[in-house]
Amino acid sequence: MAFELPPLPYGQSALEPYVSAETMSYHYGRHHAGYVANLNRLAAGTQWEGAELEALARGAEGAIFNNAAQIWNHTFYWQSMSPDGGGAPAGAVGAAIDAAFGSVDEFRRQFADAAVGLFGSGWTWLVADEGGLEIMQTANADLPLRHDRRPLLVVDVWEHAYYLDYQNARAAYVEAFLDNLVNWEFAAENLAAG
Ligand code: MN
Repeated sequence: MAFELPPLPYGQSALEPYVSAETMSYHYGRHHAGYVANLNRLAAGTQWEGAELEALARGAEGAIFNNAAQIWNHTFYWQSMSPDGGGAPAGAVGAAIDAAFGSVDEFRRQFADAAVGLFGSGWTWLVADEGGLEIMQTANADLPLRHDRRPLLVVDVWEHAYYLDYQNARAAYVEAFLDNLVNWEFAAENLAAG
């Protein structure tokens, strides 16, 4: 069974004007799809052929890890956004954010600072562990599964995620993510699943 490109959870223009259909066509249709094609080529004939993607994201190394983790990360990123996203978290996620950061505004400030300040390519996550919620940065393809953390949300801060729409203004992209796209229902599902 080959590794597959999961369907997007919405149409390619569904996140406009914050993420354009053009960005989605490259980011999903070329980058994400490209990682799938690369992984199928690289994993063929190795111990990883036919394995679960998450097993590769946790245990593989080198190029096989990079492509597997990028497939996993992007699938999680699409779900971290919604055409009905943004606003403030309710329920258990809101309470956990208040407990960890003091307020939603303080969480937003710290998350935005982390995402804007991450040098080079990577990801900024909201994660859970036994101690509660925290913000985590990972470089390149690295992901919380590798560090015994459970991801609730992620924003992609590789330049390919925002350059067509925002050029070098990563802060404007992160602000749009937090104001208009972030999918708190997805975070709540992930928190409840733990
Ligand atoms: Mn990306």
